[in-house]
Amino acid sequence: MFPPQCGGCDRIGTGICDVCLPADREMLSTTKSLHVRALASYEGQARRAILALKDGRRDVGGALGIRLAALCATGMILVPVPTTRSRKSVRGFDGAELLARSAASASGATVLCVLSQVAGDAQRGRGRSARLAARGRFRCSRSLAGVRCVLLDDVMTTGATLEDCAATLRASGAIVDHAIVIALSEPGR
Ligand SMILES: [Zn+2]
Repeated sequence: MFPPQCGGCDRIGTGICDVCLPADREMLSTTKSLHVRALASYEGQARRAILALKDGRRDVGGALGIRLAALCATGMILVPVPTTRSRKSVRGFDGAELLARSAASASGATVLCVLSQVAGDAQRGRGRSARLAARGRFRCSRSLAGVRCVLLDDVMTTGATLEDCAATLRASGAIVDHAIVIALSEPGR
């Protein structure tokens, strides 16, 4: 086995180092209906580390998830935003699910994998207005009547995907008004 290596700067020892992702930093944003908490802007070393996760680096994902635990709490129910089946099969795992499981084991939260994508990866390569218009791409596998949950993803760009997931969860009865991500791609929005 290879030793863990920082996804941001290649330093040996951990999947993400304190230089690339400083601890105790939190950023806030909002979408139409959600408060979004993040650890970083999607740029520089933090972006490089997230791209390493997207490339299949489990050690980086595990370490990023442990950092996300700072935004979680015991008993919190985390719902990861699912990636498409095709990308999952290329990578061998679901990035947001890996982040959620790592964050949950480090914080005492619970992971609920109830969302799946119905249509392909429709967001990629589309313009901003098309992304904002996309709806109904997710389905929820069970009733969540009265269950309070928090969405979790790697990056938020426009927030359209988070809104879409939140709408799907609410249609299943869940209460959802928060999301947690590693990085904000358009901070301040
Ligand atoms: Zn680093």
